[in-house]
Amino acid sequence: MKNYFLKVSCRDCGSESTIYSRATTTISCDVCSATLTKPSGGKAELIGCTVVETLE
Ligand SMILES: [Zn+2]
Repeated sequence: MKNYFLKVSCRDCGSESTIYSRATTTISCDVCSATLTKPSGGKAELIGCTVVETLE
């Protein structure tokens, strides 16, 4: 399985964060504390954010 980083944008405030595709912890927005991703089946499931860019 390929690992990569994602640049994501918070749906609530638009703040951009970089997350790991296989993050194993819940990641919250630094600005508004919305939940951005949670771990699911060994990869990060996007909850409150949209992907801006995939970083190889
Ligand atoms: Zn936010």
